[in-house]
Amino acid sequence: MPWVHIGRAMWSDLGQRLRERLGAKRLLVPSVRRAGPAKIAVKRVAHTFRNEVVALKDVDIDVHHGEFVCLLGPSGCGKSTLLYALAGLMTPSGGHITVDGEEVSGPGPDRVLMFQEAALFPWQTVLQNCTFPLRARGLSRREADGRAREFIYLVQLSGFEDLLPHQLSGGMRMRVSLARALALDPSVLLMDEPFGALDAQTRSQMHELLQSIWMRDRKTVVFVTHNVREALVLGDRVIVMAGRPGRVLQDLEVRIPRPRDPDDEDIVALSRRIRDALGRAQAASSETPPPLAKEPRDETADPVPARIPDRSPPPVGAGL
Ligand code: ADP
Ligand code: MG
Repeated sequence: MPWVHIGRAMWSDLGQRLRERLGAKRLLVPSVRRAGPAKIAVKRVAHTFRNEVVALKDVDIDVHHGEFVCLLGPSGCGKSTLLYALAGLMTPSGGHITVDGEEVSGPGPDRVLMFQEAALFPWQTVLQNCTFPLRARGLSRREADGRAREFIYLVQLSGFEDLLPHQLSGGMRMRVSLARALALDPSVLLMDEPFGALDAQTRSQMHELLQSIWMRDRKTVVFVTHNVREALVLGDRVIVMAGRPGRVLQDLEVRIPRPRDPDDEDIVALSRRIRDALGRAQAASSETPPPLAKEPRDETADPVPARIPDRSPPPVGAGL
């Protein structure tokens, strides 16, 4: 079929161009399968909603202990569906997900999910919002207070413990949400576009903060985003997804040293080139694009172009 040939030529051209431009530094290369048991193993996961939307098809991902993995893709490609399946909030219609070798059959204290909204109790102070789930897990008031204050300090909110959420900026609310999640000491942190609603500058500060916390604790993180630059700043690995049906296109390892600056020229160049190359590939695609949810406009965001070819490309090969 002609589109198959167009698709293959297009993807090998995309790989070739990126290799030429970035190959010398090899800052972004296909991930190599690591030895040893995976912390999170996603095996042939599929999900079809009742309205027959195929949100995920044959998704295979291994995440190892201490990795920071970004799921990157346009709106509607199944990122949240996959994340909620990891959280145990929904059961995929096919395949298996295990965490530490145990089948995920529901939510558990080992996994904490953060959303775009900070989801704080508006009538509780910063401190109370952070101690509430700790108390619910059986910590004494004293223990919960101590632990909550430690993480409030870590997210640079010491001095704001007694304020209510409406007295905080959006970035500060998100930092409370992060402190609350980290205080629970989950072994896996699942984040669904947590900084998507923040302005560019605040988001950048959150990237800095999250990187420094991650470099300290090395938690296993699965972070969903549609923002190429965000994925490159944060991820050890960037898993590029496409929609209709939701699937993995590329699993890439980011070899830029940390801490990473979103304005670093390698990151800017890589994100622009990934975006442009994907855009060219998509423009050449003969497939009809899926309907798109509107994303907030942000000039610095480098969102993934909304159209992704509807068939898996051949492997890009030696490295992007
Ligand atoms: P993303 O997070 O990448 O934007 P989602 O995982 O939210 O994508 O959605 C993947 C696809 O599944 C989309 O086409 C979306 O419209 C559809 N979808 C999501 N949730 C439901 C649902 N509860 N019922 C039916 N379709 C859904
Ligand atoms: Mg989503």
